[in-house]
Amino acid sequence: MQTSKAVYLGIDIGGTKILAAAVSSTGRVLSRAKAKVPKGASSREVFELAAGLSKAALGGRLPRAIGVGVPGIVSPKGDKVLVAPNIKIAGFPLAARLKDRFKAHAVIGNDVSVGLLGEAWKGAAKGKKNVIGLFPGTGLGGGAIVDGKILLGAHGAAAEFGHIVVVRGGRRCGCGKRGCLEAYSSRSAIEKALGGAQMKSKAIKKALARREWDVVGAVREASEHLADAAVSLRQVFDPELILLGGGLVEACGAFILPIVRKALDTDPFFTRTIGRCPVKAAALGDDAIVVGAAKLASCL
Ligand SMILES: [Zn+2]
Repeated sequence: MQTSKAVYLGIDIGGTKILAAAVSSTGRVLSRAKAKVPKGASSREVFELAAGLSKAALGGRLPRAIGVGVPGIVSPKGDKVLVAPNIKIAGFPLAARLKDRFKAHAVIGNDVSVGLLGEAWKGAAKGKKNVIGLFPGTGLGGGAIVDGKILLGAHGAAAEFGHIVVVRGGRRCGCGKRGCLEAYSSRSAIEKALGGAQMKSKAIKKALARREWDVVGAVREASEHLADAAVSLRQVFDPELILLGGGLVEACGAFILPIVRKALDTDPFFTRTIGRCPVKAAALGDDAIVVGAAKLASCL
């Protein structure tokens, strides 16, 4: 067994797939193992799948510590998943079971925040200590790194930027409120604006390239709401950088980023007083969460 160099285990538990990776202390992904989560899998089955993939990714190496990103609300201590709408893992003693299995401390975080931490360590926000992340995809994930740390809040539920209200009495959101950012600036919101048919991000990209006016209009509206939110969030957090990611930005970033950038650059308050705030697209892709999870683990 190799024990000379520290290796961290990063696990990305998603609603449909799990990715485990062995990550070096400098943030390099050494090996990966990935699998789909069977529909309706129980907590135990999700854990066993994650543990099996972790074993494969480690390949006999011993992890110094373990980090996990999950799509849900995690206790601020990072030991329990409190709420996870898309996967059965809430209430399961995930950190304790991983510790038993791999003989290393484990910490859990919200996947979007953990991914943002990964970007702030090795990706597009490298070296930045204050970063805001907006990730429009099926929904709209948000995250905040404040003074180098993930902003957690009292219950671990901070930075849910998808659910800030941008239109009073506006479109109904999946969370039960009306007018949330997610109801305007997600792929699902664009689909609804275009009549409701399912449209993958790549199809939206192609339609933009063909200048299909209805799609251009819908994505522009989504981008403008995102831009307004970015300006407001800048005023709350004063970040060094605003990072945009998620499926919609991966496919249509060339259309969306300039709209957000323009709104920030023309903000008469902060831009005139403290200067510009750059906007960048996320750079780590599918590795962001495992890299961020390793970073979280290395702080244990
Ligand atoms: Zn909402």
